[in-house]
Amino acid sequence: MSRPAVFLDRDGCLSVEVGYVNHISRIRPIDGVPEQIARLNAAGIPAVMVTNQAGAARGYFPLELIEQVNARLVELIAEQGGRIDGVYYCPHLPGAKDPRFDVECNCRKPRPGMIEQAAKDMDLDPKRSFMVGDKYSDVQLAFNVGAKGILVLSGYGRGELELFGKDWPRQPDKIAETMKDAVDYVFETLGIDG
Ligand SMILES: [Mg+2]
Ligand SMILES: [Zn+2]
Repeated sequence: MSRPAVFLDRDGCLSVEVGYVNHISRIRPIDGVPEQIARLNAAGIPAVMVTNQAGAARGYFPLELIEQVNARLVELIAEQGGRIDGVYYCPHLPGAKDPRFDVECNCRKPRPGMIEQAAKDMDLDPKRSFMVGDKYSDVQLAFNVGAKGILVLSGYGRGELELFGKDWPRQPDKIAETMKDAVDYVFETLGIDG
């Protein structure tokens, strides 16, 4: 039977928001996040990163750097005991000069492609899953696949909520001060101790 999972945005959610990460030295997990990934691991809940990365499409850095930075983040989280079970990214940007990236894709958040692909690859059930991110587009992605949408107030999250929250057509299922609150909500919702 398909399993529930937690899908996680990268910048401002797993890693400190620093703008475009144009060098691997700029990527760093948010304090306390690796421990929360370890809680998911211990409960047998896959932790899957899903991230839009338009920097290559904008010509800021080569595509390979996105993969190097993603791999470095996974490594830094692992050094603190957390295992990221899958990594998916969308490099596309409609209107990009480079035709490799000028694609009306199905994977750029809030479109559902990354979660749909992960569900196939890893036998996951999006409808019993969660998406955590610091932008409303992350929450919309959750809604688009029938998952629970958690807005975390790290990164852009607090500003998104204060500036635009009242205009959102549908409120997040959970507003989490930190990743710990997000994982607490996941465990509560699934009826798991931990
Ligand atoms: Mg983000
Ligand atoms: Zn895409």
